[in-house]
Amino acid sequence: MASEIVEVDMTLPAIKVVSELCKGCGLCIEHCPKNVIEFSGKFNQMGYNYARYTGEGCTGCTICFYACPEPGAIIVYKKAKGE
Ligand code: SF4
Ligand code: SF4
Repeated sequence: MASEIVEVDMTLPAIKVVSELCKGCGLCIEHCPKNVIEFSGKFNQMGYNYARYTGEGCTGCTICFYACPEPGAIIVYKKAKGE
């Protein structure tokens, strides 16, 4: 079976915070070695000030992914092998 290819319009590596799953705990912000995650200053439907990627500088290290206690709240996009 062919693997699914999703085209995204961003420089990789990068992350995306799924705003509705974020609880605004700030652990990803605290642990990112590149300081490229910040509070958005906006609130999701649960009332949390969710985090967001600043848009550049991510190394794809996945530390934020493992630091986040909310399953699925952070997606890490890496370059495909050979890219
Ligand atoms: S993958 Fe690493 S560099 Fe990128 S946002 Fe997460 S912790 Fe920061
Ligand atoms: S660690 Fe997860 S829940 Fe906490 S602010 Fe970051 S994305 Fe949101």
